[in-house]
Formats: sequence, structure tokens, C-alpha cells
Amino acid sequence: MFAFDNSYARLPERFYRMAKPATARAPQLIRVNRPLAAELGISLDHADDTRLAQVFSGQILPVGAEPIAQAYSGHQFGHFNPQLGDGRALLLGEVIDRSGARRDIQFKGSGRTAFSRSGDGLAALGPVLREYIVSEAFHALGIPATRALAAVATGEQVIREIALPGAVFTRVAASHIRVGTFQYFAARGDTEGIKTLADHVISRHYPEVRQADNPYVALLRAIAGRQASLIARWLSIGFIHGVMNTDNMAISGETIDFGPCAFLDEYDPRKVFSSIDQHGRYAYANQPGIAQWNIARLAECLLPLLDEDEDKAVEAANSALSEFGDLFQSAWLHAFRQKLGLTGEGEDDRLMVTDFLELMHQGEADFTLVFRALSKVAGGAAVETLLDQFKTPLGLSDWLTRWRARIDDGRPQDAVQRAMEAVNPYLIPRNHRIEEAIQAALYGDFSFFHRLVDALAKPYDEEPAQADLAIPPAPEERVTRTFC
Ligand code: AMP
Ligand code: MG
Ligand code: MG
Repeated sequence: MFAFDNSYARLPERFYRMAKPATARAPQLIRVNRPLAAELGISLDHADDTRLAQVFSGQILPVGAEPIAQAYSGHQFGHFNPQLGDGRALLLGEVIDRSGARRDIQFKGSGRTAFSRSGDGLAALGPVLREYIVSEAFHALGIPATRALAAVATGEQVIREIALPGAVFTRVAASHIRVGTFQYFAARGDTEGIKTLADHVISRHYPEVRQADNPYVALLRAIAGRQASLIARWLSIGFIHGVMNTDNMAISGETIDFGPCAFLDEYDPRKVFSSIDQHGRYAYANQPGIAQWNIARLAECLLPLLDEDEDKAVEAANSALSEFGDLFQSAWLHAFRQKLGLTGEGEDDRLMVTDFLELMHQGEADFTLVFRALSKVAGGAAVETLLDQFKTPLGLSDWLTRWRARIDDGRPQDAVQRAMEAVNPYLIPRNHRIEEAIQAALYGDFSFFHRLVDALAKPYDEEPAQADLAIPPAPEERVTRTFC
């Protein structure tokens, strides 16, 4: 079924602990991602739903699987915890996909491991469905993220504040190596471990840095660069990750751990949804600064590899960190230029973007619909299409005058509209719709969950049949808190 080719399990034993998935009594398949399975060369042809439920709950281990729980540390909300690791996740193994890329197959919620501490190793249905919906939506939006291969209900209860149905999620990632994985070895003074991990990361994710004069400095810069571009993409769709702890930042540059994540409805840069983020550390607009802080923690781990001379190592780390700031700024500006339909580089573009965002904030405009409305105005629609999105459209007409002058470069109107609509999604996984899918599923009805996943596979298409999924929540539908 799976053609496993496991490389992490070949690393030194202190990198992980062997573990076995817990056996679910009555697993039921919720959904399996067949196109992704095909891409991974996983053959599901001869497996019925019962069999798939057994496999994707860990009840039957596929041939070649070598389940391990990976060791890692992490800064959680700024506080270092030297001993985290996969407490409710298990790496089944790796496969080489159709394009030749190595991909991890990981269970989440398959029972206790050596790293579970006081946790039960289980996952509740709600967060599993949220991760399925959001990670697949990211894929369709073209933003790097882990993928959803399967979700299975275990038929068993998970005790949180209340008893909830349990589920196992099967996740696919370029790898599950985190900033916190490096921190695990650094915290133990294990420079050999850091080097082994860095070499594994280079061959797996950044083979091009081998050509550099100093491959480890080049590695740090390359990782920082991918994060800078990733966070810019998050901001461009109004995404708030919610738990940007260093153990939730993947070295590959993929978005990982969709725990209490959420999306902006009306634009507010200070917005926080996560129930565990009490001080707003991971608010929407804080994300670039936090990513840079996380990269600084990674740089500290890599110091012994950067240069034999300590001062030179620090200098190299600092220059990579300041590069992060520049790369983020240019990736952000690039993304928002595209959102506004601006081609080329105008000197006042940054101000044009920030002024528009400020008007959106004051007008409590919906982050997603505003850019679709602006796209239509670019295509010739009446300006009311846009004004209707703002509670107070004060100052907007002056801004529109500047914007019209800037986009007027001889392109046909409908070409501008199409270019803008190709980068400004019509559909995002709105928090209240995710919640609706979860609530129905808690009563055994998965139809809305399936509809949502299917619709979000084409986020840029304006399908009238999906109009109800595009609109912001009514006051009574608003989700103010998310949980993992
Ligand atoms: P997270 O906040 O989900 O990224 O997890 C942070 C750490 O807590 C990781 O080491 C997880 O493996 C661990 N963890 C979270 N939930 C559980 C659970 N239910 N049982 C055991 N470990 C858990
Ligand atoms: Mg995590
Ligand atoms: Mg505000």
C-alpha cells in the first residue's frame, strides 16, 4: 500500500522513541484524500472503507511502517520547555512522491508516547476537522502547508472540559522537523546532534546550500527566507496561526499545526482568536516579528556550526536575522501589490497599501470581500460595490483616485480584474463555517464538512452555489474563540 523509505528512523536513536499506535475499537472513516494518496504513490484501490478506517486509525500497521515519536523542545509563548516531542503524534514513515520529493506520513491522536507527559495522546474530532479543512484550503490557495491524507473517528471518547468524540488525523508534510527540534539538541549541549540534524535538513530540504562557501550560514538564511515569504502569504489572506511556538514552526517552510488558527473577518491587525493566547502574543500583525524571534532562537542553536570564531558566528547570525526583515517586507509588499492590482514598483506603493488597510480597519471592512469588491471596481463595476463593504467609507474616495491613477497602465479593465481575482480568494475557511461543520459532525452529520472541503478546493472561483460560504458571519454566528 505504502512504499515506505524511512530516513529519520535511520538517524541516531536519541532523535526519537519507538512507539505503537493505540488501537481504536470502532474506527469509522470520515474522509480520505484520494488525489493526495495518488500523488504519494499510495494505492487505495483494494481497500474498502472498513480497511481504510483500520489503516488510518493505526489499528492495522501497513508493511514497512516504523512508527516513531520525534524528540523536540520549544519556546511556548516565550517560555522554554526542553522536553516536548510528539506526545500525540507518530511518524509512520516516509514515502517518495511522484515528483521525487520525500514526504512524512504522520498520525495525530493515535495514543500516548514517551513524550506524552500528562497528556492522553488523543485528538478530539473538532480540531481534526479544522486541520483537515484549513490545511487543504491552504493547498488550494497555493500557500505551503502540511496536507490532510485522512480523518477517522475512533469511536472512543476523549475527555477535555467535556467528553468529546475522538479522531485520528493523518498528516503529510515535507518533514516534521521544527525549530524546536534543533533546540532539543542545543538544550542538551549536543553539538554533534545539531550537526547531524542540520545535514539531514540540508539533504532533505535545502540541497542547494551545499554549494555555498559556508553551507550552515546559507542554511540559516534559506530557512529564514522561506519563513519570511510564508508569513507574508499568511497576512495576505488574513490568517492568524494562533500558536507560533518554536515547536510549531517547520524548518521546511510549510505551515504546520492548525490548532486554534482562524481567519480575519473584518480587518483588525490586533485580532486574536486562540483561547490559549491570553496576551495577544500571536495577534495577526505580530506574526512577522514572532517569526523573526523564532528564527533568532534557531540561529542560537546553529551558532556552533556557523563559525569556529564565536564573534564571527554571531555576526553571521545577526546578518541572517536582519535579512529576514528585508525579505519579509519585500514579500509582503509584493503580495499586497498583487492584491491591489498594481504592476511594477511604484515609490508610493507601500503607503497606498497601508492607507488602504487603515481605511479597512476604520471601516471594519471584511478582509476577504474587500479585495474581491476592489477587483470588480477595477473591472468597471460601480464604486458602491466597494463602498458597501465599509461601515464608514470616509477617506475612501481620495484613496480610490490615487489607486485608479496608479493601476491605469493601458491594460484592459477586465484583464486587471482577472489578475486581481486570481490572487484574492472568494472563499476562505471562515471560522463560523468551520464551527458549523464541527457542530454538525458532533451529531454524526459530516455532509457540511464534506461540502466545505470540496468548495474550498476552488477558492478563487466565484460560484453562485457557494455564495453562503463567502459571506461574513451574522452577529449571532460570530466565533470569538478557537480551541485546539
Ligand atoms: P501543540 O500545542 O499541539 O503544538 O502541542 C505542544 C506539545 O504538547 C507537543 O509536545 C504535543 O505533542 C503535546 N501535546 C498536546 N496535546 C497532547 C495530548 N493530548 N497528549 C499528549 N501530548 C500532547
Ligand atoms: Mg505542535
Ligand atoms: Mg481595532
